[in-house]
Amino acid sequence: MAILPILSYPDPRLRTIAEPVKTVDAEIKQLIEDMIETMYDAKGIGLAATQVDRHIQLIVMDLSENNDNPRVFINPKVTPLVEDKKPYEEGCLSVPDVYDSVERPTRVKIEALDGEGKPFVEEAEGLLAVCIQHEMDHLNGVLFVDYLSRLKQTRARDKVKKYLKVRERQMQQNKA
Ligand SMILES: [Zn+2]
Repeated sequence: MAILPILSYPDPRLRTIAEPVKTVDAEIKQLIEDMIETMYDAKGIGLAATQVDRHIQLIVMDLSENNDNPRVFINPKVTPLVEDKKPYEEGCLSVPDVYDSVERPTRVKIEALDGEGKPFVEEAEGLLAVCIQHEMDHLNGVLFVDYLSRLKQTRARDKVKKYLKVRERQMQQNKA
């Protein structure tokens, strides 16, 4: 297993549209394992392949309290089941240190393949509905900050830049 580097906003590669996965082979399974490890390491609850610069329709997620229930969504299709939208405070491993409220439909249908390539259909609400829509956006080159005002986007960019600078300094100190 390996921890993969995560792209940070406003990296233009985060705007890439992901291609469908053709076959769930050993290479994809390896990527799934690495993405799950990367997600846990970064203390995230979801990660799209786009964020690790792999532009295929693959999402990993773990909404459990003890990080013991990783889930995989391959070639997912997400359809809102209600028009009702609710705000939820979102964050993103590609936009570190930034949190803001985004409105999304509260119930969705998910059609996808699991980590073994087996198709499944599921209705989701609550955190799963929020999270799958957030990750789906990544596969379409969209970030949650795109829903915010220009001013907030500029602030988010500055905040990420600052965060990355501090982290880089810390890593250099650790090496020294
Ligand atoms: Zn994200």
